[in-house]
Amino acid sequence: SRKIRIGIAGYGNLGRGVEYAIAECSDMDLIGVFTRRNPSDVKVVNEDIPVYAFDELKDFQNKIDVLILCGGSKNDLPIQGPALSSMFNTVDSYDTHAKIPSYFEAVDASAKPNGKTAIISVGWDPGLFSINRLFGETVLPNGETYTFWGKGLSQGHSDAVRRIDGVKGAVQYTIPVPDAVDRVRSGSQPELTTREKHTRDCYVVLEEGADSKAVEHAIVTMPDYFVDYDTKVSFISEEELKNTHSAMPHGGFVIRSGKTGEGNAQVIEYSLTLESNPEFTSSVLVAYARAAYKMNEKGDVGAKTVFDVAPGLLSPKTAAELRKELL
Ligand code: NAP
Repeated sequence: SRKIRIGIAGYGNLGRGVEYAIAECSDMDLIGVFTRRNPSDVKVVNEDIPVYAFDELKDFQNKIDVLILCGGSKNDLPIQGPALSSMFNTVDSYDTHAKIPSYFEAVDASAKPNGKTAIISVGWDPGLFSINRLFGETVLPNGETYTFWGKGLSQGHSDAVRRIDGVKGAVQYTIPVPDAVDRVRSGSQPELTTREKHTRDCYVVLEEGADSKAVEHAIVTMPDYFVDYDTKVSFISEEELKNTHSAMPHGGFVIRSGKTGEGNAQVIEYSLTLESNPEFTSSVLVAYARAAYKMNEKGDVGAKTVFDVAPGLLSPKTAAELRKELL
């Protein structure tokens, strides 16, 4: 059978990660990268891959099987998801958890009448972590689910620190509290507050003449972002920020701790340790693009989430191969 033809819509960290991930998949062809910027300003990894303006997408409806949407969740996907899922099968990583239900409805209203399959909110959280939360609570209905994030760089919290007066640059790491993780792993099902689960570490470069005490105070008291956590603030040089804090590591664990029978403790743990959050997220997007293609071939159209995708569809192997090799 012919290869699955993929397009990339938006070329930031995820877009680049998708380009790398497709290069590892012998059943896929990357047709092109689409950007809102001037295409000649966007440098892709493999120079043989053409870069087009977003406006040209409408000419590619018969040339692309699945378009992977790599825009940001805050401003790009709320527009691009509904707009592009009327023309293409799509996969995206929409991660504003509270707004997923309304985003789903908007994408469904666009994809379904046009016979397209659109898998939303794919990645690791939402995504692989969501599936593991579901496994946990269905297999062990009598129990508790715990999600810990990190150690990892949080883009949203880093941006919030950068917006403070006197801050020239900053990164923020979310770190699970080891004692809390140990208590959960022991099967004791503790009740944990926000402060008990994670700490936050900030590395900040000050503007010249800025007051470090005032900046620290503004960080640790910031509502929603920091006030409910124990936060450590360290001031560093611009050079150190660039040299030691440019990578985008992340990860975490989903743990389900439950009881069965006469009180036997059962603990399930799913854990990720990621040197590059965007490259991993992109790898998940590419696997789900394969599923989107197969589901659409079978006429399974409309908006979908990871809960609606059978695991075998993610694999390039046939169902018979999977039964023989992995079951
Ligand atoms: P990003 O690098 O900021 O890219 C977002 C968009 O910004 C790109 O599609 C690109 O669109 C534009 N862009 C990128 N670099 C640019 C530049 N130098 N100048 C101007 N525009 C530029 O964001 P990202 O790191 O790829 O992350 C995208 C989203 O993924 C995040 O918002 C997050 O919500 C989501 N995410 C989800 C998960 C999950 O587990 N579900 C995990 C990680 C991230 P154009 O090419 O059209 O300009």
